[in-house]
Amino acid sequence: MTHKQIARICVSVCEKDLDSLRDACERAVEWADVIELRLDCLEAIPEDLTELTQSLSCPLILTFRPAEQGGHRNSTDEERQRFWSSIAQHSDSIWWDIEGDLVHDLEPDWSRVIVSHHDFSGVPNDLEQIYERLARTPAAVLKIAVHANDIVDCIPIFNLIDRARREGRNIIAIAMGNAGIATRVLGPSRGSFLTYGALDDESATAPGQVNAPKLRSLYHLDKIDDETMICGLVGLPVMHSVSPYIHNAAFVSERVNGVYLPFEVHDAQQFFKRMVHPRTRELNWNLRGLSVTAPHKQAVMEFLNWIEPDAEEIGAVNTVVVENDRLLGYNTDAAGLIHPLLSRFATLRDARVAIIGAGGAARAAIWALQRQKAELTLFARDVTKARPLAELFAISCSSLADASFNGYDLVINATPVGSGTYTGQSPVTGEQLSGSRCVYDLIYNPAETQLLREAHEVGCQTLGGLEMLVAQARLQFELWTGKKFSHEFSQMNMDFIL
Ligand code: NAP
Repeated sequence: MTHKQIARICVSVCEKDLDSLRDACERAVEWADVIELRLDCLEAIPEDLTELTQSLSCPLILTFRPAEQGGHRNSTDEERQRFWSSIAQHSDSIWWDIEGDLVHDLEPDWSRVIVSHHDFSGVPNDLEQIYERLARTPAAVLKIAVHANDIVDCIPIFNLIDRARREGRNIIAIAMGNAGIATRVLGPSRGSFLTYGALDDESATAPGQVNAPKLRSLYHLDKIDDETMICGLVGLPVMHSVSPYIHNAAFVSERVNGVYLPFEVHDAQQFFKRMVHPRTRELNWNLRGLSVTAPHKQAVMEFLNWIEPDAEEIGAVNTVVVENDRLLGYNTDAAGLIHPLLSRFATLRDARVAIIGAGGAARAAIWALQRQKAELTLFARDVTKARPLAELFAISCSSLADASFNGYDLVINATPVGSGTYTGQSPVTGEQLSGSRCVYDLIYNPAETQLLREAHEVGCQTLGGLEMLVAQARLQFELWTGKKFSHEFSQMNMDFIL
């Protein structure tokens, strides 16, 4: 099978019995070019697999993984050898995935063998030697899957794909874990033989495996090529974000050859040095832009060559543009935050506004609302911690615990309370909100937070964070592409997310 003949998305199916396996395969066919049958997941291995494999119409990869390589069976080497010796490669569309240690004991049709190595703990120091060892076998395809503990662990994996391409070898190289998602999405466009996808979020067979429907309909894997402009969201955590839905849909709707990925970054300095800055990075990729979220919005500023004066004043950057060999920083949060208010308030001049929280989003809110000449008060759980920010912008600062928002025109939640591990919680009570006009929660997921529910109950107007998210994303899109992001698109996309 040539590189072109084999599929790009392999859906990996791991089930305990044959009926469930068949059922999963039927569902997988919709998304898969090839299906990996994880036979080690079966509680009982049938005597003869021919009936099963012949009943499936899709090309197959058969895998019988031992526990120490991420499998579901504590099988001995002898059992593994017996297993492989008992099955026939009766069809051109059946491939075997054999671990490197078994290669010398078997005599398959090597033109349909993937020889594999897995490391679930990290990136081994001898990665290149492992590649060379596998490359000395007669197998048609090499597979190396390691675990990315940080996004920079993708670098050696991309380098392996580049090396295999130069040497004319077929390779599947993957960094597992959330930090390695870039290798799964971008790998095929750089020459990786295929990428693995799960049937759905619940049935991933390896850490960080993106589900196949998302590979196709969110990341548009089939359209990614050497020319594709790469953008992404830098943060920790990032996997919950809906930004990939907004930006990838924008690329499609505006006919831009681009892809937007979540980049789970622990160490921003290493990421910017080794993967982002064109003068120092170790990866040749078509990176064009970054969105930046907590906790990196302030930290990234020192890695940039130029920062727009507004972002400098705000003290936070949420957007990076890679322009030739320079990195430019912007803040689109401030304008994004104001945008939904303009249709709800005739003017914000002299409006009494309470901002809860004193982090990056609060900074952008203060700066933007001061420009609108609103009258601001900062509320925080820890006033000592929040006071420097209040002093910087010369606004008053109070404790959240005993606050009353009676008489305020606008109360803004700029804390994470209401989302993630805080879902169902509110930073303030309905009683505290009573008598305020409008409550604006910057959280967008969930769309209706506990704060907004309580605000609604005591008669306040409410506004969630999704409109802001889309508004700031629209500005990012313009900075990266030089194109406008159409009104129709933003409406369509918000319906999609909600
Ligand atoms: P951040 O920099 O981490 O700041 C969070 C702030 O919330 C800090 O002042 C923190 O106070 C406070 N806080 C945390 N837990 C709290 C609690 N249990 N009770 C009271 N205060 C608490 O985060 P950020 O970047 O400003 O983001 C804040 C929120 O805005 C997040 O939910 C984010 O998703 C949202 N946001 C939305 C958009 C959008 O487009 N809709 C854009 C940006 C941000 P301490 O310092 O005391 O910990």
